[in-house]
Amino acid sequence: MRLRNKPWAVKLVSDHPEAVLQDPDPQQPIAWNSRFSHPEQPLELEIGSGKGHFITTLAAQHPERNYVAIELQTTAAGIILRTKLEQNLTNLQILRGDAAQLAHFFPAASAAVIYLNFSDPWPKARHEKRRLTYASFLAAYQQILLPTGHLEFKTDNSGLFAYSLQSFNQYGANFDFVSVDLHHEPVERLTTNIETEYEHKFAAKGHPIYALHASFEPK
Ligand code: SAM
Repeated sequence: MRLRNKPWAVKLVSDHPEAVLQDPDPQQPIAWNSRFSHPEQPLELEIGSGKGHFITTLAAQHPERNYVAIELQTTAAGIILRTKLEQNLTNLQILRGDAAQLAHFFPAASAAVIYLNFSDPWPKARHEKRRLTYASFLAAYQQILLPTGHLEFKTDNSGLFAYSLQSFNQYGANFDFVSVDLHHEPVERLTTNIETEYEHKFAAKGHPIYALHASFEPK
C-alpha cells in the first residue's frame, strides 16, 4: 500500500519527535525507557501498521501494555500519530523506519508480542527477502522476543500464507495457532478480534482470513 504523500503528515511527524522516531541510527541503542511513562509494562510491536487502526485500538484497550507501531511511510506514521494525539495514547510510540533494521532497534528479549498484519506479499521470487516472514526477519523476531513471547500473523493472501507456514516451519518455529478462516473461529480461540483496515476491506469482499501464531526457542 502506497499512500499519497500528505504534507500535513510530514509536518505533524516532524513536530512530534517525542512520539515518532524517524529512521533511527541503527548503531545507537534507542532509549525506550525514557519514551514511555511506564517503561516496566510489557512491550508489543506491530510491523507495517498502515493507518494504525489495529494498534491504536489495542493501545486504547490495554493501557497496562506499551506498544510500538513500526511503519515505513511518513503519511501512515502521521495518521497513526494523529490518532495517538487525539486519544492521548501515552502507551503508544511510532517508529518511522524499515523493519529490516529491527534487531538494531530493540534489545534482545524485550518484546512480549509481535504482530504482522496483512504484510506486503512481494509475490515475485526475486523479492522474497523483502517478505516480513523471510528467514532473516524470523531471526530478528526470535532475537527480540522474550522467551515467553510470541508472534501473530494474519493475511488474506493465500500465497504469502503458504510461504510463511513453510518459512516458519523451516526455521524451527513452534505453531501455537493456525487458521485458514479466522473470522469463523470460535471467539475463545482468538487473542484479539480487532480488524485492521485491510482485513475489514478483504473480509467484506468475502476473502477468507488466514492466521498463524508462532513462538521460537530462545537463541
Ligand atoms: N497492517 C495494515 C493493515 O492490515 O491494514 C497495513 C497493511 S499494508 C498492505 C502493509 C504496510 O506495511 C504498509 O503500510 C507498508 O508501508 C508497511 N511496510 C512494508 N514493509 C515494511 C517494512 N520493511 N518496515 C516497516 N513497514 C513496512
